[in-house]
Amino acid sequence: MVTIKSKSEIEKMREACKIASLTQKEIEKAIKDGISTMELDKIAEKVMRSYGAIPAEKGYPSGMRGVPDFPGSICASVNDNIIHGIPSKNVILKNGDIVSIDLVAYKDGFNGDCARTYTVGNVSDEAKKLIEVTKNAFFEGIKFAKKGFRLGDVSHAIGEYVNNNGFSVIKEFEGHGIGRDMHEDPGIPNYGKPGRGIRLEPGMTLAIEPMVTAGKPDICQGDDGWSIWTLDESLSAHYENTILITEKEPEILTLI
Ligand code: MG
Repeated sequence: MVTIKSKSEIEKMREACKIASLTQKEIEKAIKDGISTMELDKIAEKVMRSYGAIPAEKGYPSGMRGVPDFPGSICASVNDNIIHGIPSKNVILKNGDIVSIDLVAYKDGFNGDCARTYTVGNVSDEAKKLIEVTKNAFFEGIKFAKKGFRLGDVSHAIGEYVNNNGFSVIKEFEGHGIGRDMHEDPGIPNYGKPGRGIRLEPGMTLAIEPMVTAGKPDICQGDDGWSIWTLDESLSAHYENTILITEKEPEILTLI
């Protein structure tokens, strides 16, 4: 069921999203050659808690027998790791890497979700283009995140933009509604047909998140049961914001 948020609920969403955005900024400042993804995780948790929020990803159930709940406060996914990378003291960022940080702040019963891909030192031109195209794809998608358009219009715009730039979207994971729960209806694929899907209405809050690979779209899962990788070992990038559908332009709640 797709929930329409009330004014007071939207205010709480705004606050959780602001904290998520501020946390990304602190992570961006900390990223450098030699830092581990576990150190970034600790920074994120500290920042979120300093604003009275908690990292919602920590303890998120895997839904799979034998796979423990997610242990990190953030997902930190390096290079060909697309999403759901588990922070580790053994994963040390180095010059030329790209790292996707996906995090969710939870406060007063509501979640704010955003992801960015950062560069470490000097990266390849391909990596720069991949990050740019992934970010732009989000903005292409939200041109249609308005009252009266359908979800398929958003999905189609994202997928077309990525394909036209020579990259691929993954199909097994998608954006989602968000609010009291981190993952609510509707699912928001990064590909689709225009004119299909639910009609967007003011008060919907959606996490729209292109996940893009520089090579083929095929994925595989790591031995930890969480991490998702490109099968062809090509680079990947992720860009996500929580947005609010309004009577006019969408409001990007996680861009502060
Ligand atoms: Mg996210």
